[in-house]
Amino acid sequence: MARDKAVFIDRDGTIGGDGHFIHPDVFTCYDGALASIQRLKDAGYYVFALTNQHRISKGQATMEEFERQFATFGFDQAYICPHGMSEPCECRKPNPGMLLKAVEEHQLDLSACFVIGDVGDTDMLAAHRAGMRKILVLTGWGKNSFTQYRDQWFETEPDYVAEDINEAVGWLLSQSSSVHIEGQKV
Ligand SMILES: [Mg+2]
Ligand SMILES: [Zn+2]
Repeated sequence: MARDKAVFIDRDGTIGGDGHFIHPDVFTCYDGALASIQRLKDAGYYVFALTNQHRISKGQATMEEFERQFATFGFDQAYICPHGMSEPCECRKPNPGMLLKAVEEHQLDLSACFVIGDVGDTDMLAAHRAGMRKILVLTGWGKNSFTQYRDQWFETEPDYVAEDINEAVGWLLSQSSSVHIEGQKV
């Protein structure tokens, strides 16, 4: 059975904002970010948002507000952890819960999936635990995550480190031509 490929993209510090919580009403994207999302879709990838938003648990925004925003940005679906920092859950990155749920829901081929994010100990570790490839962007927390906080996610390494989402997508699309499908190079 053919399985699909997907790219999971973090919000804060990856497609816009500064890495901190920003309400969907006032969040803005970096130049080119929406075009990059579209490039991935044109190349046949599902594009999913992958985000921890614990402020939802504090009533500072709703799941629906985030879902609506991600739909306007062109995402096929949003995987959002709304839980508080002290609530145990399987979905909050670095847990791989949201990724594994998506694999199940969309019959994804793990070896053809990527995660793009700005934080090592959440985005990169979640990808590592789910067995997906990963790209760290240097926007948002990316630079600090790659230097000062590198020891917090020593168990893995990004497949690529990109200046921003646009460079990340360019690299990803240059890789996908060598992805193995049913044992054959395509
Ligand atoms: Mg982030
Ligand atoms: Zn959660």
